[in-house]
Amino acid sequence: RRGRAQYQLFDRKQSLKIEKQQRIAESMRHVLTSEEEQFSAVYQPLYHLQSGEFIGVEVLARWHSPEFGAVSPGEFIPLAESRGLINQLSCRIFKVIKDDILSQQLSTEGRKPILAVNVSAQQISDEDFERKLIRFHEQVAESGWQLEVELTETQLMSMSDVIIDRLGTWQSYGMRIAIDDFGTGYSCLAYLHMLPVNKLKIDRQFLQAETKSRKEDEIMYAIMSMARALNIEVLAEGIETTEQFRRLQKLGCSTGQGFGLARPQAWRSELMGALPLK
Ligand code: C2E
Ligand code: CA
Ligand code: CA
Repeated sequence: RRGRAQYQLFDRKQSLKIEKQQRIAESMRHVLTSEEEQFSAVYQPLYHLQSGEFIGVEVLARWHSPEFGAVSPGEFIPLAESRGLINQLSCRIFKVIKDDILSQQLSTEGRKPILAVNVSAQQISDEDFERKLIRFHEQVAESGWQLEVELTETQLMSMSDVIIDRLGTWQSYGMRIAIDDFGTGYSCLAYLHMLPVNKLKIDRQFLQAETKSRKEDEIMYAIMSMARALNIEVLAEGIETTEQFRRLQKLGCSTGQGFGLARPQAWRSELMGALPLK
């Protein structure tokens, strides 16, 4: 049917997978346009690595579907992005965050804890999303938190003047900008001096690599030195073991997160406690 001199293999497994994705996307659209509360958020604490002090949380979306069970963000985020549902999903997560933690006012003493949310690159130039983000930022600030927007490095690679401009505007409102999964893209150095950015989140691949030479430590050290020179903060992702934690402390890495420190979990104010350092 596609014309002559062409052939197409029919892969039954592939087609079943596409059908399932289609059903998941339909279900997500339905849930996001109704009052159904299937989406929730978990919160992973971020810490100062030298002092163990709590510095904030990263918010991670969760979906418990009665039909499909627990769908992983690795599956539903790309679907939401490709089906035009990502703004609705973000707004649903903002609402969940408001119910979970912004309803309680924090005491104002000390530094404001960070509330880090993940945003997809395609949302940056969306005016409707921007209005909602700015409104959300106001609510976050009023409750005594500091909003940080995480954007992945690979998504920023097709960076344009428009994006630089929007991120600069967000920063001028008082939001912080973090580059997520830093080191997984290829253009990391070319844009750093142009992009309004407060923090680099070093991807866990460097920390978790199983090599003897420890070239990864050299790379992390170089990223930290560069960041320091540019006045950008650094956070190491994926700290799972005590050995990894010690290595980072030795390298002088200021902040981190990972299953070994605290898992992403349902909100409770006890998450704001310091790390018990041994
Ligand atoms: P991410 O932003 O890089 O988030 C960190 C991911 O690493 C999370 O996976 C977290 O559970 C996991 N993680 C944390 N500590 C460790 C560790 O020590 N070891 C290992 N192996 N993994 C660790 P999760 O929750 O499955 O999220 C996957 C991705 O989905 C996130 O990656 C983020 O890019 C995306 N995502 C999640 N929520 C949202 C959202 O609300 N909006 C958007 N646009 N993306 C989201
Ligand atoms: Ca993130
Ligand atoms: Ca990451």
